Amino acid sequence: MTPLLEIRKLSRHFDLGSGVVKALDNVSLSLDAGEILGVVGESGSGKSTLARIVMALDHPTSGTVLLDQRDIFALGPRDLRKARRDFQMVFQDPYGSLNPRHRVGRIIAEPLHLMPDAPKGAERRALVGTLLEDVGLDAADQDRFPHEFSGGQRQRIAIARALITKPRLLVADEATSALDLTVQKQILDLILGLRDRHGISVLFITHNIGVVQEICDRVAVMQHGKLVEIGPTQEVLDAP
Ligand code: ADP
Ligand code: MG
Repeated sequence: MTPLLEIRKLSRHFDLGSGVVKALDNVSLSLDAGEILGVVGESGSGKSTLARIVMALDHPTSGTVLLDQRDIFALGPRDLRKARRDFQMVFQDPYGSLNPRHRVGRIIAEPLHLMPDAPKGAERRALVGTLLEDVGLDAADQDRFPHEFSGGQRQRIAIARALITKPRLLVADEATSALDLTVQKQILDLILGLRDRHGISVLFITHNIGVVQEICDRVAVMQHGKLVEIGPTQEVLDAP
């Protein structure tokens, strides 16, 4: 089976004048369809840099990212826009990532600008309602504003927004880190359910080992921009 995501010898260096920071240093890994891969490592180890590059929000200094065997940095603007439907991201901050002035329905529908034949009107409303129900909220919640929801509910809204283009890969960067334990657990269960129902792959970035144990099939350990270990979750966590 060819992997859904293949990262080959990826490096990202930041030249700060005073010196070069190797935020990513020759990282290679792959992710199969329907797999949840955890990426762990202390703060500053390069996890978010990896996420940003996989999402094509930043460019690598060297190396390649293949999504479904397409080199995303070799795509022209049109094709990249098209490819963007296949990968979506959920961020850490459930408060900052939703526009407070927009109703939830508009927020969730936003990525539809990537779709050529996006539904409109009643059809769009029905689609947003289905997504809200898929993440454990009510279809009618689309008429409310973000401030009317709790942190966990907002993260569900962010996940619904990510799902609207039917992505094959979800990149979650510390997506549960700002939530209290009970709510974290609910969001993890939601992500597991989405994988089971939709066969979606997840690159799950966290500094929390407990969370990794909960949902990841395999885990990659980052340190100072390097990938120092990768393997089945229990094997990696049991290793010294
Ligand atoms: P993590 O998400 O694991 O905490 P990051 O990927 O955010 O780590 O950062 C990795 C390293 O790269 C850190 O040393 C950070 O300071 C540096 N870094 C990240 N982004 C930039 C940037 N835009 N400019 C300069 N340095 C950066
Ligand atoms: Mg980070």
